[in-house]
Amino acid sequence: MASNPSLQQFTTSGGAQIFRLPLEAFPRFWAYAYLVLVEDMVVLIDTGSGSERSNAGLVSGFEQVGQQTGRPMRLEYLTDILITHGHIDHFGGLVHLHGKTRARVGIHELDLQTVSGHEERLALMSRRLGEFLAEAGVPAEERGAMITMYKFTKALYHSVPVDYTYEAAGMKVGPFEMLHLPGHCPGHVAIRLEDVIFSGDHVLKRIIPHQAPESIIQYMGIGQYLESLARLDGWSNGARLALNGHDAPIGNLSARIEALRQLLTERLAQTLEILAEQRTIAGITARLYPDVGGYNALLVLEKVGAYVEYLYQRGLLRITNMDELEAQTAPAAVLYQRIEHPAAALILESNFSTCQPSNL
Ligand SMILES: [Zn+2]
Ligand SMILES: [Zn+2]
Repeated sequence: MASNPSLQQFTTSGGAQIFRLPLEAFPRFWAYAYLVLVEDMVVLIDTGSGSERSNAGLVSGFEQVGQQTGRPMRLEYLTDILITHGHIDHFGGLVHLHGKTRARVGIHELDLQTVSGHEERLALMSRRLGEFLAEAGVPAEERGAMITMYKFTKALYHSVPVDYTYEAAGMKVGPFEMLHLPGHCPGHVAIRLEDVIFSGDHVLKRIIPHQAPESIIQYMGIGQYLESLARLDGWSNGARLALNGHDAPIGNLSARIEALRQLLTERLAQTLEILAEQRTIAGITARLYPDVGGYNALLVLEKVGAYVEYLYQRGLLRITNMDELEAQTAPAAVLYQRIEHPAAALILESNFSTCQPSNL
């Protein structure tokens, strides 16, 4: 079994010190927060999930940094907390930090509700998710269990006030610059400090970041994600290192962005191939990801939902049970099938080739 990740140190071109703090966000699921010492600022980028282990990891990470630098380091010394995006494994630790520090908390405004209007947002998202799962063709009993699971992972959190949003701050906080990257999460940002980029979950080293359809919430979906990849590629020009939310550092960000585009094209092509016959999103998921259970079963349904949405938006799929759907008032399972379009390959290809850095 792989050993647990450890504290790692990096230095920017201007001499700022960065420490990667490994946090066990959920059992055997690790997330990274970054403690940055620059000028007179002590900045935490992301906070872990707020679980007991994740919070303990923050405290011991600060102690280790103190030992390593010979400069005492405690949570109360934080001046700023910058959240890359509104997913619980990145902002959940705010509950623990709130009251222990006077640090100013910043987030992009499209994720503000998730952090400071959490209860309302969770209720709304659960309803939308329920509708998505019904349309995806997931049986009612499984839907209930999935929504309970979805709520459970966020139950530890309660709303915490945010001090400012990045847009309102001009996408700049001290020496840190932000770029909005919708797709993986509506208010996702990359944060740049000199030659280092904090890419959150938008670009990970080993896996395709999670995707969910825009029908659940705006500013997500594959179309948004691809456009954001292109913007990041142009904006990060000259950066030496991308530090992300879950994986090892990325040296060549452009190459990784290109690889992610390729991987997504392959997934979309596979989805089209499976849709030679009519299927629901649940039916496609069973083919693409057999033997996936627990919380991951929900994640793969969202992922396939995002692929189908992207292909449908671009005229590559049709709905085959329209009469049945029109006769229903409640959300019902939608059957999709590939349109035998002579230009299908070209449509896919051209959508990807428009994702060039020149779209900045
Ligand atoms: Zn995320
Ligand atoms: Zn994450």
